Amino acid sequence: MVYPGGVTALANVSLDVAAGELVGIVGPSGSGKSTLLNIIGTLDRPTSGNVQIAGQDVATLGDRQLSALRAREIGFVFQQFHLADGLSAADNVATGLLYAGVPRRQRREHALRALARVGLAHRTGHRPPQLSGGEKQRVAIARALANRPSLVLADEPTGALDSATGQSVLRLLRRLNEEGTTIVLITHDRDIAASLPRRIEIRDGRLVRDDTSPTGRTVPAVAADR
Ligand code: ADP
Repeated sequence: MVYPGGVTALANVSLDVAAGELVGIVGPSGSGKSTLLNIIGTLDRPTSGNVQIAGQDVATLGDRQLSALRAREIGFVFQQFHLADGLSAADNVATGLLYAGVPRRQRREHALRALARVGLAHRTGHRPPQLSGGEKQRVAIARALANRPSLVLADEPTGALDSATGQSVLRLLRRLNEEGTTIVLITHDRDIAASLPRRIEIRDGRLVRDDTSPTGRTVPAVAADR
């Protein structure tokens, strides 16, 4: 991936993520992690090479088809939540379903169900300024889940949270993974990274390590599951 201006952010990266995996992307700042996540999520198109989602080469899709694929298959979670402060938690989640073409009434039903799934059934009418950081990230995760995507991509989902809150958000992501959602997340947190069943390390735009825990299963981090 070469950005305008000539920065080569990724080179020769080849990565397969199977359905049902929970994969961490680690590496120093500026190494290309977000670029990789954006390419996997079809938010950026690579300068060369190809990306397949659910067996489909995304380069063959036009912008509208790509948006539809994204809305159907992929949920995004960001470090800074990206919630609208003026909307209730339910409306923040429901708004995310506009692009998936879900009718209004179902949008609300899906939103309430997704909020219940992340443990926020009691906060559906609260607006983000009335919520804690961990609750905001749960709303953002509910938004990512509302359309039941097969893949959730999370860019430093615990980066803006204190470590206990971050661990509880991570526990939620693990549970969603156990329930069948494929998750790829970027993390700077060593304990979190060490606890994941698979870790990809990026340095200077190259994939330098791909570690799978011997059992291929989640290893509880030191402080993760207390
Ligand atoms: P990380 O997520 O590991 O911090 P990024 O993927 O954000 O790294 O960035 C990788 C490299 O690409 C960096 O050198 C960054 O400055 C550059 N880069 C990222 N986004 C852009 C962009 N939109 N335009 C130009 N260069 C970019």
